[in-house]
Amino acid sequence: MHELSIVASLFEILEEKAKEQKAKKIISVKLKVGALSGVIPEFLETAFDIYKKDTIAAESTLKIEEVPLKIRCQRCDTEIVKDDFVFICEKCDSRELETLSGTELLLEKIELEV
Ligand SMILES: [Zn+2]
Repeated sequence: MHELSIVASLFEILEEKAKEQKAKKIISVKLKVGALSGVIPEFLETAFDIYKKDTIAAESTLKIEEVPLKIRCQRCDTEIVKDDFVFICEKCDSRELETLSGTELLLEKIELEV
């Protein structure tokens, strides 16, 4: 499971941040997960819950904001939110598309108790 290694690196960051802020515990963690990031939010949640035991984040909750795939056609400048992954402009059938969002995997926010 790809998500386990992501969660492992996430926890390295969390522990570092907690140390920096001299936090007692981590209350919540918010991630932004793009539709094209290759990460499945449910797997990420499961991995997080397994991993958090006996860490500073043991009682924390994970919030995931799913970011849809958004593209812009370079020919007709239309912006489209895709729920399928068919990379063709709906207006002009162009395949020259630019990805605006949906590939990200970001640590958006950490809530700490100091
Ligand atoms: Zn177009």
